[in-house]
Amino acid sequence: MSRVMNFSAGPAALPLAALERAREELLDFGGTGMSVMEQSHRGKDYERVHDEAILLLRKLLDVPADHDVLFLQGGASQQFAMIPLNFLDAGARADYVLTGAWGEKALGEGQVVARMFGAEAHVAASTGTGDGKEKSYTRAPRPAEVTADARARYLHVTSNETIHGVQFGADPARPVPTAPAGIPLVCDMSSDFLWQRFDVRQYGLVYAGAQKNIGPSGVVVVLARKDLVASGRKDIPKIFQYRTHADANSLYNTPPTFGIYLVRNVLAWVDAAGGLDGMRARNLAKAAAVYGAIDAAKSFYDCPVERESRSVMNIVFRLPPGLEDRFVSEAKKAGMVGLKGHRSVGGIRASLYNAVEVAHAEALASFMKEFARANG
Ligand code: PMP
Repeated sequence: MSRVMNFSAGPAALPLAALERAREELLDFGGTGMSVMEQSHRGKDYERVHDEAILLLRKLLDVPADHDVLFLQGGASQQFAMIPLNFLDAGARADYVLTGAWGEKALGEGQVVARMFGAEAHVAASTGTGDGKEKSYTRAPRPAEVTADARARYLHVTSNETIHGVQFGADPARPVPTAPAGIPLVCDMSSDFLWQRFDVRQYGLVYAGAQKNIGPSGVVVVLARKDLVASGRKDIPKIFQYRTHADANSLYNTPPTFGIYLVRNVLAWVDAAGGLDGMRARNLAKAAAVYGAIDAAKSFYDCPVERESRSVMNIVFRLPPGLEDRFVSEAKKAGMVGLKGHRSVGGIRASLYNAVEVAHAEALASFMKEFARANG
């Protein structure tokens, strides 16, 4: 068996230990004589896994008792719609901070729902430049640049923009914005959930698609303040109401049981690998190696992102014209995959999520130094 060094942006590398555990348990889960996929989601064997995953999240993130931990489906994209569906009504407004393409998508769905309900969705701050359909984003705003309306129902931010490589909270000078008193802060943490500690109490609602840092696609983790969940609209379909899932411990309908099982395996690995402090140390070392290779060959590699906003998770950079395809194909020959930038922006993107080994980031950095020397 030979496994590659996987720098994909998502679905992304999973910890080997989590996959090996799944292989061990695949045919006969816990002595039940069947896989976890073949069991009722109402049975005690599955329920134990489900509850363990929730408890591990509570422990790793220090989730306070007044927040629910939910497992939902529909991807982070469904949250773009579910959030305004639950919290907007006639005359209300929601504010969005834009630092890249995913925040734009969240705003777009917010505007659709706002039109349905006679509400409004506004831009509280944007660092996008250019007039085209595809805006360029190279930084997170400074705290003073974000002015949320004091009447907003929520302030939405994207803590890490996966395509543009722009992150809040990696550098103390670019903290995640704070919402005005009484306004829930809502955060898309899909691509930087569980990479370092954060204070859950500061957030009304956090959501993250699993397929980057916590498991396979098909599961979305939501942390939501209980009073906010209770305040959601009751005249929308039950399946889209947060309270439905909170009241049923995320077992209202059939959950993605195998996905949640794998999330459990990944969380157990995070716990054993030193929890969030362990993840942060690993991730900072990886990012330092790859940004170090960029900065060591400044006339060859160009990272467009402002230093304080550089993402620890998704490192984007460009090469001189004509060399990016060769970079990707030579990297592949050296066992490194998933390096092509998103189709909307091009360039190269190295995603260094929790499961990516420090040795893999170091191997990429060495490859980059050698490639710049040979082609510069
Ligand atoms: N938000 C962010 C920050 C993302 O990176 C992604 C996926 N790459 C999404 C939302 C959309 O997630 P999904 O495909 O699970 O709907």
